[in-house]
Order: sequence, then C-alpha cells, then structure tokens
Amino acid sequence: MKDKNVKNLEENSFKNIWIDWIGKVQGFYFDVQDKQDSEDELIISFNFAQNSQRSRLFEYFDSLQQNDKISEYSLNQNVISIIYKEKEEENVIEFLKGIVTKIIEIDGKCICNNCDCTENLAYYTNGNKFSLLCNKCGEDLERRFELDQQKENNYIKGFFASLIGALIGSILWIIIGSLGFFASIAGLAISFCAFKGYDIAKGKLTRTGIILNVITIIIAFLFAQYAVLYIEFMKEFKDMTLLGFIFITPIFLKDLEFMQSLLPNIGLGILFIFLGSHRTISNNYKAAKNAENLHIEKLDL
Ligand SMILES: [Zn+2]
Repeated sequence: MKDKNVKNLEENSFKNIWIDWIGKVQGFYFDVQDKQDSEDELIISFNFAQNSQRSRLFEYFDSLQQNDKISEYSLNQNVISIIYKEKEEENVIEFLKGIVTKIIEIDGKCICNNCDCTENLAYYTNGNKFSLLCNKCGEDLERRFELDQQKENNYIKGFFASLIGALIGSILWIIIGSLGFFASIAGLAISFCAFKGYDIAKGKLTRTGIILNVITIIIAFLFAQYAVLYIEFMKEFKDMTLLGFIFITPIFLKDLEFMQSLLPNIGLGILFIFLGSHRTISNNYKAAKNAENLHIEKLDL
C-alpha cells in the first residue's frame, strides 16, 4: 500500500488489524488490505445487505472498471470485494467516498456478519481477527468469550492425557534407541503426542498447562531411556526379566562407575530431547501467552 494511503486511512481513524485496515466512511464500514501478489492494488471489501437496486451499484463498478480505477469486483454472499488500483492523484478515502455516495443513492446498507440486522453495527475484534456485528451479536460474542475464559480447567485430566500421549510418542525413541541411535525426530514425537493428548482432553492452553506438558515430556523421556537400557541389558543377559531388571535398578543406580559409563548416553539423550521438543514447547507457550491476553473489544471508530 502506498504510504500516502496508509496515512490517509490513519487520518480517517481506520484501525490496523493484522493485514487489514478497517474503518468507517460516512457511516459505512470498509476493510482495506494489500493485494498480496500486486504492487499497487488494494482489496476493498464491505458487507452489503440485499437491495433491489443493487444492479445500479454494479453498473457504477462497471464504469470504474472501464475507467481503469478498479481491475475487478465480485460478490460473495453479502460481501462485495473490489480490486482497487492505487493512483497518485487519488487517495483511497476519496475513492471510498465515491462508493458511499452511490450506496446512499440506492438506499444501501451494511449488514451484520452474523444476522440480517443492518442497524447499530460495529467492528468487534480480539486483536487478531475482526467481524462486523450488530449490537446483539456483538454482545453475544462477548458473553460467549467470557464464559469460555471462565470455563473450569481440568488440569488433572489434561495431565494424564498428555502423559499417555507422551508415552505413546516415546515408542519411536525406544525403537531408535535400541538400535543404538539418537534422533531429534523422536523427541519431537514425544512432545507432539504430549500436547496432542492434552488438547484431546480439552486441557486449556495456559502457562500452567505448558508446565504440565513439559513434566510429562520429561517423564516419557526418562521412561524411554530406562526402556532402552533394559533392552541393552537383555542383549547382554538373555534371561533378564523385566521384573528382575526393575529389582536390580536401585543397585546399579548406586554403582558410581556404572552410572559414569552411562553419562555420555544421558547427555546425548538430553541434547536430543531438547532439540526435538523445544520448538513445540515454545510455540505452545507463545500461543498460551496470547490466549491469556485475548479479549473481545468493540472498536470505537
Ligand atoms: Zn447480528
């Protein structure tokens, strides 16, 4: 978008939400955004209620197209989209005023995104997304959002689902480990399955939830390392049973020399679980932080 148009929109109280500029021109609501694959074109869209004289508005768009002011326009349900060509001699708000004059001529109205109401409209946003809603739909949205925020969070269920997920994910670690290798993909499998399990149990993505997932990832990692060690033992001592192995575990934990011989493997294991899981954890952490700060706001334009 040309700098002068950014300035022009700002001066007319348009608000920037993600890649969109949303605002009001003489009581009509517009969304302006860059056309991604074009240097000097903008996509202008607005909600337009059914109107018996709509063809007159389209005739106007046809004339704009003939005069090379727009390259195309389309109607999808109630949303009209226009591809506007930015020009040196015209500001985007001037262009929008021309459309508004035409809309007023045919007694056109904007319409709520959610119902057929054309009165008391406003943009509602959570900071990332936005929607043009009537008063009633807007209040409904605020109420639903608040209820969702207050919803009890079942951390215990989420924790166990995450643990089951992480343990399932650790199977890959055990297979690769028993062949004598480490791979970050196995760490990724553990962390991915942990968060998947947590999500299935409808655990809320909060910072506490992230800590629970990190705990289950560590448990699954320790479990997988222990299982790999058992497999190693079985290779040496053919008649070693699982119970027998569990029984002698405290003995070799106390054996300093034996534990030292394990250190390189433990170090590599920690390195690879970190490489495999840190991105999943940090992405979820960012999402949780965002979700905690989210609130619905009615834009006063
Ligand atoms: Zn509505």
